[in-house]
Amino acid sequence: MTNPPNILLIYTGGTIGMVKDYKTNALKAFDFSQIVDNIPELQQLNCHIKSISFKEPIDSSNMNIKYYVDIVELIEKNYTKFDGFVILTGSDTMSYVSSAVSFMLKNLKKPIIFTGSQLPIGDLRTDAKENLITSIQIAASQEDGKPVLAEVCLYFEYKLYRANRTTKISAEQFEAFTSMNYPPLAESGVHLNFNKHLIHQPKNKHDELIVRKQLANDIVILKLFPGIRKEVVQSILEIPNLKGVVLETYGSGNAPTSKSFIKLLEDAIDKGIKIVNVTQCAGGSVIQGHYETSVALNKIGVINGKDITTEAAIAKLMHLLNKNLTVLDFKFLFEKSMRGEITEVE
Ligand code: ASP
Repeated sequence: MTNPPNILLIYTGGTIGMVKDYKTNALKAFDFSQIVDNIPELQQLNCHIKSISFKEPIDSSNMNIKYYVDIVELIEKNYTKFDGFVILTGSDTMSYVSSAVSFMLKNLKKPIIFTGSQLPIGDLRTDAKENLITSIQIAASQEDGKPVLAEVCLYFEYKLYRANRTTKISAEQFEAFTSMNYPPLAESGVHLNFNKHLIHQPKNKHDELIVRKQLANDIVILKLFPGIRKEVVQSILEIPNLKGVVLETYGSGNAPTSKSFIKLLEDAIDKGIKIVNVTQCAGGSVIQGHYETSVALNKIGVINGKDITTEAAIAKLMHLLNKNLTVLDFKFLFEKSMRGEITEVE
């Protein structure tokens, strides 16, 4: 008989780790080192669970590059000792942090499952228990002694997604996330069903894990809206040391055709700023050059973000901008799938 898998639970903060003090009615942080004792259901899972917690749990609105590095360092330090990892963060920026982590880990061979909840774990109607228990079960899932998953995922309300395909869509519903451009990797009902054909299969079994901790944050999201003023676009593109822009355009990647707007973008690109075209639509893809309103973007060297989410585009910019790539290599790498974040169409 093989040994039960070892799972490391990393609590960074967020609603999930709270309990109600019924005397005062206030929500307070839960001591995660006691989690297995406090949630007896966890003892029924066929795995060993160890948990560690950030010294000071944070709301995910306070997440930044420093915390991304803290998370990957915890994974790196424990990578050989554990078979799977469950990372608990606040849901508000979970798609951003999990997308970033997906780029920071190359040649991953083990599952990393991000989860959280809309209601605290100590609330009577909580969604936290199901999210936590199923995430641990997924992280512990093995076939022929090997993990079923070898990628960074996000589990919420019965669905497992590739993390860098997700977006938070609701501050109210338990179904808080969606992945419009890539189907769920697994669905939890009476059975836990993996959609095996959608799951990433590591190519070279012998490649070691590579951890990249250098991230750039001289970047900005520029969301277009009808009537946006030239001065606004100009002042954003003239931010000192700006390196990358996620340009949120309309529909399939369309933007105003006015000469003055295109010239601003062109000047920024000439200065070395990388501009990525991402659609404002929840689903679908940028098709640069499809409409007249995106032909000029193609010509001046705007990068085609295809069907990437804004969250993943930010993470990919953070990751690639520190690599000293040539203009052509940067565009080539951004437009191709590195961690399954983009659909490559011929
Ligand atoms: N504000 C919380 C956070 O993102 C919400 C949550 O945990 O879902 O940290």
